[in-house]
Amino acid sequence: MARRRDYDMAVIGGGLLGSAIGWGLARAGQRVAVLDEGDVAYRASRGNFALVWVQSKGLGMPEYAAWTRRSSDRWAELAQLLKDETGLDVAFTRSGGFHLCLSEAELERRAQMLMRLHNQPRMVNYPYEMLEREGVRNMLPEIGPEVVGGSYCPLDGHCNSLRLLRALHTAMQARGAAYLANHIVQGIDYRGGGFRLATAAGEVRAGKIVLAAGNGNARLAPMVRLSAPVRPQRGQIVVTERVRPFLAHPVVTVRQTDEGSVMLGDSVEEAGWDDTVGNGVIAAIADRAARMFPLLGRLNIVRSWAALRVMTADGFPIYDQSDDCPGAFVATCHSGVTLAANHALELAPMIAAGRLHPALDVFSARRFDVPKAGRA
Ligand SMILES: Cc1cc2nc3c(=O)[nH]c(=O)nc-3n(C[C@H](O)[C@H](O)[C@H](O)COP(=O)(O)OP(=O)(O)OC[C@H]3O[C@@H](n4cnc5c(N)ncnc54)[C@H](O)[C@@H]3O)c2cc1C
Repeated sequence: MARRRDYDMAVIGGGLLGSAIGWGLARAGQRVAVLDEGDVAYRASRGNFALVWVQSKGLGMPEYAAWTRRSSDRWAELAQLLKDETGLDVAFTRSGGFHLCLSEAELERRAQMLMRLHNQPRMVNYPYEMLEREGVRNMLPEIGPEVVGGSYCPLDGHCNSLRLLRALHTAMQARGAAYLANHIVQGIDYRGGGFRLATAAGEVRAGKIVLAAGNGNARLAPMVRLSAPVRPQRGQIVVTERVRPFLAHPVVTVRQTDEGSVMLGDSVEEAGWDDTVGNGVIAAIADRAARMFPLLGRLNIVRSWAALRVMTADGFPIYDQSDDCPGAFVATCHSGVTLAANHALELAPMIAAGRLHPALDVFSARRFDVPKAGRA
């Protein structure tokens, strides 16, 4: 028989966004349920590259650069809190990271892009350097002869993102949040100041809801008079066998994990809901990585996979609240590892208090309505 349950807050989606927000809400004293799909789900949170990355974020929206920097600044605190609450070490290091270039033309394009980014009005100040080959080699001694230089940002880092997801789930449940697997939300009804979520496993009621369903947000948002125009964007990743420590700083497409294997990535492909692995793409990823670090060419590839990013038209996040259904919020982004600290420690307390801070207005999906209005 269908069951009915009541909560202060229901979070739809148990990926990195839903679990970070769910944990943050539970820390704020809310009675939380997190509703999630079963194992058939597409989950960006189980297939990402695990960078906590600042450099190059925010061209076209300087507020996003500031939001990213803020999360990066709070990441050590996030990792420590999760360790204190769960005993799990998410292996966060902020060692500084690189974007490497394999030709003078690439290096020039990179320098121009970062200059445009940092010259934007209202741009948050953060350090970065363009380095010639020798400067890179001082910090990454194993680079190959084709590397001509790159950009370096001391704020960049990485973590073990599968462990991050596990730690967030463990922490939120330890604080009393109910994790409801196999609860695909099919309909949302706003009635009498509260929300009724229809699932095949029964109705769930909540005073407030957060849509954190990744690409599923596009379908759910209109049910509470919100909009979340996101699309799946495929990324493929390759993992090598374990090797001695050789890479003290993550590179945007090559990083050595805390367990010794090396992750190579990650492609950017518009393939709709297709998350199959393509051998041509994998070969191209491996080839470029081996040109950066020749020792990689001698390692066995042990795994590869494809996962679907959650992408908006401009690449920036959506954080919004519904005017017509007060208490309904939406959160979606394509850098859910990097922004996990903000989601747990900044966004969740705002949602618990019932109102997003006006500084987040810039992330409203209403920004996508502007061109339409212009054409009218
Ligand atoms: C290849 C790749 C590399 C990446 N690299 C990085 C990186 O280095 N650094 C970084 O910061 N980010 C990275 N990302 C992005 C990051 O992984 C995502 O931003 C993040 O995982 C998104 O989390 P999410 O919770 O929004 O979505 P998801 O992980 O997709 O989770 C959404 C959840 O919602 C559930 N759901 C959907 N519809 C419903 C419904 N109707 N009812 C109930 N549940 C529902 C799904 O089952 C799923 O569990 C990468 C992503 C990819 C694909």
